[in-house]
Amino acid sequence: MTRIEQLIRPELRRLKPYSSARDEFSGKAEVYLDANENPNGNYNRYPDPFQNELKKELSLYNGVPTENMFIGNGSDEIIDLLIRTFCQPGHDKIVTFVPTYGMYKVSAEINAVDAIELNLDKSFQPILPQDACFWENPTNKLLFLCSPNNPTGNSIEEGIILECLNRFKGLVVLDEAYVQFALSESWSKRLVDFPNLVVLQTMSKAFGLAGARVGLAFANVEVVSWLNKLKPPYNVSELNQKAALEKLKNKDQVIDEIAQILEQRAILFDELETLEITQKLYPSDANFILGIFEDATELYAYLLERGIVVRRRKDVGENALRVSIGTEVENKKLIQTIKTFIREKSTVY
Ligand SMILES: *Cc1c(COP(=O)(O)O)cnc(C)c1O
Repeated sequence: MTRIEQLIRPELRRLKPYSSARDEFSGKAEVYLDANENPNGNYNRYPDPFQNELKKELSLYNGVPTENMFIGNGSDEIIDLLIRTFCQPGHDKIVTFVPTYGMYKVSAEINAVDAIELNLDKSFQPILPQDACFWENPTNKLLFLCSPNNPTGNSIEEGIILECLNRFKGLVVLDEAYVQFALSESWSKRLVDFPNLVVLQTMSKAFGLAGARVGLAFANVEVVSWLNKLKPPYNVSELNQKAALEKLKNKDQVIDEIAQILEQRAILFDELETLEITQKLYPSDANFILGIFEDATELYAYLLERGIVVRRRKDVGENALRVSIGTEVENKKLIQTIKTFIREKSTVY
């Protein structure tokens, strides 16, 4: 058995996957009478279950071979699929470093899989266990690293990622949802060196397609083939695929938008830093900034009343707020409104 086969849920090894009409015939035909579709209209046909055209375009964009790609209905679907593929309910575990993206644990719990929550240190780097038992425990199947991390915004040090890849016996799932806003290169370039690496990306953030639901996994071909066996046959709709292809045709626009967001991030950081209610502001490699603010509860409510919604992050602290980078106009409105909040407060006392 290969290393990946050993990690698969044993009850799945014998799985005979569903075979869809488009699995059994994927060529071009004149008359399609094989999938019980309505012969009239647009979007009347089932989409390509393996999104071949989209994968080809993505491959031109990021250099990852198409056979190492899996596309999901958002990366949230891929997180769930990874857990269902590798973790036996009531038996296996996933590992996360908190505070981090909430879906790893929620997806695990929905699947009756426990999450071992380890801590990030003061600079939000993972504190790695030293005991060999942890690394070698065969029930610890998936270790999630989020870099840049949501909600803290920092990238994880290369040495720490390497140590996880080298020591962990299960799969290391590196969530790069925000990598386009960081200076570091994607680990998807290094798949050949690490058979246990799964890189997650998404078109929801830098590509501006949160509404279209297109998530990406880059992994070795064995992992990809298992995900293909478990996924619903037509998991990525024709509409999603078209939206993604359209976006990839406008690469210059995407690059432009990322540059604008980075510029706005720097401006917003400087502005927030000068406010007297800002107690701590964390440097960000992502398209949001995390900060600790005096009276965050009051500030949050004040902003909300004026139509501005930010995110409370109580997992970081009672006074932690996470602010996404908006347009120049939106960011200015945020800063002006916070300044008014500060002025009003100081005249009350
Ligand atoms: C937003 C986000 C996702 C979700 O991506 P979708 O493709 O929209 O499902 C995944 N991981 C992290 C860390 C995120 O912040």
